[in-house]
Amino acid sequence: METSRRKFEKRVWLASPCMHGDELKYMKEAYETNWMSTVGENLNAVEEQLCKKLNCPYCVALSSGTAALHMAMKLAGERVYGRPEVGHGVLEGKRVFCSDMTFDATVNPIVYEGGIPVFIDAEYATWNMDPEVLRKAFEIYPEVKIVVLVHLYGTPAKIEEIKEICREYDALIIEDAAEALNATYEGGYVGSFGDYGVISFNGNKLITGSSGGVILLHSREDADKVRKWTTQAREEAPWYQHEEIGYNYRMSNVIAGVVRGQLPYIQDHAERKKAIYDRYQQAFLEAELPVHMNPYEQGKSVPNYWLSCMLINREAMCKQVRSEREALFITEPGKSCPTEILEALDGINAEGRPIWKPMHAQPIYKLHPFITRKGDERAKTNAYIDNGIQDVGMDIFDRGLCLPSDINMMVEQQEYIIEVIKDCFR
Ligand SMILES: *Cc1c(COP(=O)(O)O)cnc(C)c1O
Repeated sequence: METSRRKFEKRVWLASPCMHGDELKYMKEAYETNWMSTVGENLNAVEEQLCKKLNCPYCVALSSGTAALHMAMKLAGERVYGRPEVGHGVLEGKRVFCSDMTFDATVNPIVYEGGIPVFIDAEYATWNMDPEVLRKAFEIYPEVKIVVLVHLYGTPAKIEEIKEICREYDALIIEDAAEALNATYEGGYVGSFGDYGVISFNGNKLITGSSGGVILLHSREDADKVRKWTTQAREEAPWYQHEEIGYNYRMSNVIAGVVRGQLPYIQDHAERKKAIYDRYQQAFLEAELPVHMNPYEQGKSVPNYWLSCMLINREAMCKQVRSEREALFITEPGKSCPTEILEALDGINAEGRPIWKPMHAQPIYKLHPFITRKGDERAKTNAYIDNGIQDVGMDIFDRGLCLPSDINMMVEQQEYIIEVIKDCFR
């Protein structure tokens, strides 16, 4: 069947940059005025415009979303535990609650600071952190004071419930809104609900600087700290005076030119992403495919639809086995699986992607606590070697996948992709 299929001449990407022209103008301005370093008009404009747009008092532009998450971890850590000795992480030996189903850039900064991520299982309504599990986690580890909350694929998490629980336990929230620029919850932009927020401008995000990110903050003091730490923590003195460990994490004014040129297109990109999502959803409904799109809380939240994902109904899953490095499946009439669909997409030169493999199942984090509605899964016998944990994240990983969601994709290309997906279920 696949052998006779027409292939796209140029690959259809999962999500690729979409430039509009002004990016080059602002980059050129940086060049011509020789503001080619980590200060300049583009940086000021990006920080100002994002503050205004997201209704957040302070914003600092950094080299990546990961750097922004690292700085958020340091700020939160210092606020709760005080400044560490030189050579020690601010979270050393401290547990931090974190969304389980995410990209590992969410989690790694906890470890950079010596912390112990404790993974919180997902829920089915938004694919984000389950508030019920978070409550359970606080019952097991009431001393935890920092929660890292992800808004996966541009869909807001259950912020209200999570904020309420964190208020009860006096814990700070770091919002990883790296994928979720422009998504709203009860009318407010995600990234501005927590104590600290992070947005990424990596090449495949809603808008891009080619790289880069920002941290969103609520106090002048925090913003000043981040500016200092990310420029190698130089003290105010006539010479290079250092009283803290620093980083070289600032965004360049050239990169900021790209971001600045993209900022006016946030809404446009989000609308095009929504059109892609709607087209998949409509087509799957019409074809009565046994699948659902990645869900969100209708009436409460508006996603940015960064990636369109689908979840195959349990009864429509053919046999699929995944080892640490490989996947196998046996196709069956009327059924399919993510591996079959991803291979079919690749066969026509289109890029899909598996759902983020949950962090608790990653070899680097295999010994870290993992909480589900049933409690601490690692505390049970054989939990370390048994892959049979009944968790939501692993279930979505098994049955779900990310579909080509590139705003440069043409309608006819998407229609062909939809036909290929339908074929997988024949
Ligand atoms: C992209 C991403 C990051 C990291 O952002 P970078 O700018 O690539 O460092 C963090 N968390 C999530 C969920 C992401 O998707």
